[in-house]
Amino acid sequence: MENQRDIALVDCDNFFVSCERIFRPDLNTRPVVVLSSNDGCVVSRSKEVKAMGVKMGEPWFKLQKYHSVITAFSSNFKLYADISSRVKRLLADFSPIQESYSIDESFLELTGFRDVWDRAFTIRHEMLRQLSIPVCIGIAPTKTLAKLANHIAKKHPRSRGVFSWNRLTERQKQTLLTAIPISEIWGIGKKMGRHLARQQITTAWQLKTANLDMIRSRYGVILARLVSELREEPCLDLVEMRPPRQQILSSRSFGHLVSRLDVLENAVAYHASHVSETLRKEKSLANLIQVFLQTDRFRDDLPQHAPQVWQSFPAPTDDTLTITQTAIAGLRDIACPLVAYKKAGVCLHGLMPATDITPDLFTQRSSPALTATLDAINQRFGPNTLCVASNNAQTRLWQPRKEKISPEYTTRWSDFLICY
Ligand SMILES: [Mg+2]
Repeated sequence: MENQRDIALVDCDNFFVSCERIFRPDLNTRPVVVLSSNDGCVVSRSKEVKAMGVKMGEPWFKLQKYHSVITAFSSNFKLYADISSRVKRLLADFSPIQESYSIDESFLELTGFRDVWDRAFTIRHEMLRQLSIPVCIGIAPTKTLAKLANHIAKKHPRSRGVFSWNRLTERQKQTLLTAIPISEIWGIGKKMGRHLARQQITTAWQLKTANLDMIRSRYGVILARLVSELREEPCLDLVEMRPPRQQILSSRSFGHLVSRLDVLENAVAYHASHVSETLRKEKSLANLIQVFLQTDRFRDDLPQHAPQVWQSFPAPTDDTLTITQTAIAGLRDIACPLVAYKKAGVCLHGLMPATDITPDLFTQRSSPALTATLDAINQRFGPNTLCVASNNAQTRLWQPRKEKISPEYTTRWSDFLICY
């Protein structure tokens, strides 16, 4: 068809599990899960686990009866982030325009290529061959339909991982949309689903054929856009670059409750150096810092305390030492020695591009060479190899439990596999 738009959504199958399997091919047909921080809940499931009826988000301790059958991993985000960037790099070989939508999903513009269908199978094949990552691909004239097509590719083995809306007849499209409940449409939440159900709109087909003016006036422009997208009129463009973000947050629950100030300082110093590194990577400066603590909300037998403090820097900064010192000072103001905390975090606000600022003669900061060296060493040998003094190994007792974590196969020299 002339002027046919071909947008592909490439989505990695159970991405975290697939990353773990790259280096453990013995697990390729075995049930595998990845657990959230503190080894709490299931966040990624292999298809064998889905078939056992294990739900997303289920607490691992409740799955006792499966512990001997399912292989569980703690989440290894260093590995997943590295594999994700390899996936995106490989996808870039297939289209000049890519919107990286999430860690394991990208929209690709395939409009204009003569062989879109074959191209999709080639992408799938190369992902498996070069990275051992299985993907499903949905192709359609709009992002919303591409998302739907992807869903179908994933659910129906007959599609062999690729489903194109653009190859369907009008009749097939209608049958398909009639069979899809609106809850499965991208961007429709539970609440909106209930509202629409009251208007007798329960399937994708009913939504597509609803009165657009009624939808716009009653539910707003966002849902109206979505309806247009179902009608094959593209409203959502591919966003290649996201606008700079408004804040940078690092926080985590502790492996156990913590009341010792030196341990809290260590946690806050860790988060402070983490956000500083992110800030420099994005070539931004921060004006404000927020430090916060939280007790365990589920322990109603213990006193509850969730203090926070905001401080501004004397001048916008990206300096690890300044940020860490300010964070620690803030922590000392808010931490109560009689309370056991479950979580600490640091958040930078008031971000601006580093290029917008004229350096100030009177502001003390550590030398750029020192900071660059710190970043380079930590990137090469792992976070916290070099750190600010309060952030050292003796007080690192707060860290979350990660009893089942896999090695950093691709990002740490000592963890590389050795092949004989
Ligand atoms: Mg996925």
